[in-house]
Amino acid sequence: LTAELAGREPAGVRLDQVSKHFRGGVQAIRDVTLTVAPGEFVVLVGPSGCGKSTLLRMIAGLEEVSSGRIHIGDKDVTTQLPQQRDVAMVFQSYALYPRMTVRGNIGFGLRMRRVPKEERARRVDEVAQILGLEHLLDRRPAALSGGQRQRVAMGRAIVREPQIFLMDEPLSNLDAKLRVSMRAQLTLLHKRLGVTTVYVTHDQTEAMTLGQRVAVLRDGVLQQVDTPQALFHHPVNLFVAAFIGSPSMNFVHATVDAGAVSFAGVRIPLPPGSPLADGGRRVILGMRPTSLSVASEDGAPRLTVTPAIVEDLGDERFVIFDVDAPRVDTDATRAAVDAQAEDDALLVPLDRATFTARLPATTPVTVGEPMAVAIDPARLHFFDPATGEVLQ
Ligand code: ATP
Repeated sequence: LTAELAGREPAGVRLDQVSKHFRGGVQAIRDVTLTVAPGEFVVLVGPSGCGKSTLLRMIAGLEEVSSGRIHIGDKDVTTQLPQQRDVAMVFQSYALYPRMTVRGNIGFGLRMRRVPKEERARRVDEVAQILGLEHLLDRRPAALSGGQRQRVAMGRAIVREPQIFLMDEPLSNLDAKLRVSMRAQLTLLHKRLGVTTVYVTHDQTEAMTLGQRVAVLRDGVLQQVDTPQALFHHPVNLFVAAFIGSPSMNFVHATVDAGAVSFAGVRIPLPPGSPLADGGRRVILGMRPTSLSVASEDGAPRLTVTPAIVEDLGDERFVIFDVDAPRVDTDATRAAVDAQAEDDALLVPLDRATFTARLPATTPVTVGEPMAVAIDPARLHFFDPATGEVLQ
């Protein structure tokens, strides 16, 4: 089976300006253009309700598109029925047949397509071997663990040898530990089979660990499609910057003037030649929790802060503190973008900004005792306060 799959030219998926309006006025997907290369593993990620499942269901043919085209390989499948599309979908709820054994469940689709018994048995055995289910073939779903059921559901998809795997939150019913181990197994499986995969999740860690590329969706609009590294280091807007990375990026309203960016009394010189440096302007400044460290004496820009909370994780600690500058409301930025508002709309100070620093566990920190925190000037992100777009 693997040889057969590996020997077949994988097909890619192409979405051209795909939109979806539901009756009742919800526009779930707006003008999405996305190409998934043959053999590639692409993850669609975004918060609840952003349209991920709708997009996946449109690729599967379970949902009609309102406008736009969908290609699988060089075939236009936009109006094809699901069974004509050569895709296999794995859902969050595995929906196994309770009265059938694992063997029966995996082979069911082949039986429906009247694949001869011997070939069926051979393919089911191969899939069971790939997924480590050989010893469970005669059990019924009730006698399996969650992870085992999940693998059976995966087996049903693999045995069909589809051109495309579509997976909608397949791991979300598993406990945290099992999810991590299934993630690794999925990556290995993809390496082995090389089947083009589109995978939906709301979990950015899952997206970053599984995806060769990750597509970030918000309110039905594609924000950025990139490798996990590129998303993390070069987010194109405030939303992506805030969504990717854990703990989340720290944001604060700041001012750029005379070659430096300032907030809360700290002044960080910009690299020479930075296009931001000329002219006074307001920006949203972003700093990852890992770009904050305990200040040494080398003159790096530093903030004096008072830790409010310390979370110990064993080999590192998250130190949370307030900063004397207005908090950035990323949702307000969205509202401002929608309303085409001016800069100032966002500068209504709501609250003080809260920062998280991710420090080694050996760092001495006491709640309530002031300490100096250094900021790495090479790892700053700048965003336009009116639009939320990155400033280069
Ligand atoms: P979740 O992570 O919560 O599953 P999602 O990102 O997968 O969310 P979708 O299920 O694709 O989001 O839904 C996108 C939007 O479309 C939501 O606003 C949802 O309420 C709406 N929607 C989904 N299905 C329908 C439908 N059949 N009729 C009307 N609106 C729908």
